[in-house]
Amino acid sequence: MIRFESVTKRYADGTVAVDDLTLEVPRGGITVLVGPSGCGKTTSLRMVNRMVEPTSGRVLLDGEDVAARPAAQLRRSIGYVIQHAGLFPHRTVLGNVMTVPRLLGWDRARARAAAMEALEKVGLTADQARRYPAQLSGGQQQRVGVARALASGPEVVLMDEPFSAVDPIVRAELQDEVRRLQRELGITVVLVTHDIDEALGLGDTVAVLREGGHLAQVADPATLLAE
Ligand code: ADP
Ligand code: ADP
Repeated sequence: MIRFESVTKRYADGTVAVDDLTLEVPRGGITVLVGPSGCGKTTSLRMVNRMVEPTSGRVLLDGEDVAARPAAQLRRSIGYVIQHAGLFPHRTVLGNVMTVPRLLGWDRARARAAAMEALEKVGLTADQARRYPAQLSGGQQQRVGVARALASGPEVVLMDEPFSAVDPIVRAELQDEVRRLQRELGITVVLVTHDIDEALGLGDTVAVLREGGHLAQVADPATLLAE
């Protein structure tokens, strides 16, 4: 589904964030990139939707180099969830979730229907859809972030520390929710976390990164736990 081929990212200041990463992300599961802060997880994730361009190597999506596709189109067709949801405060929940479908050129009625459906999938109500993000709890805002990523029906959803800012009980609910959505929708999720327990609990495939942007290990959780 997604393949990193000898990917290196060196930022303008010389920092090597990702060092010669080769990694296969299988279709239709949850692949977790885990490792300490600064080991290149976010950079790796952002090279999938061209928010960051590799210095060398390439990232393939369905066998095609992502560099061959317009960056704007990729960012719209791949779902993206970040830690603090990143919602527009001056737009309602519904307005936020309609953003991507509207950017894709869907008419208002179709975008609205897709947004309402996505909100329903993450357990939010029509009443909550009319509110502004600040009127929801942190956990609910993350649900809105997930709904926004799903509204246009992407095959791939990238999640960058999606649950790190919420309390443990809400985090467990959201983890279950993502697991359920992944199965129901058959999407491919690539999730970044610094939390090894989250990685082992949620990942079908776990890629362990270490300082300097090196890939240490890739395995399923049972194999990792047995070692
Ligand atoms: P992680 O997600 O694992 O915390 P990042 O991918 O955010 O790691 O960062 C990897 C390394 O690259 C870190 O040393 C970070 O400081 C550095 N880095 C990230 N973004 C930039 C940037 N835009 N310019 C320079 N260095 C960066
Ligand atoms: P959490 O347990 O996720 O931290 P909160 O304690 O923040 O949740 O919120 C609990 C409930 O109060 C939620 O149903 C949320 O919608 C509502 N709520 C929180 N903040 C506001 C607000 N500023 N205006 C209206 N409702 C709010």
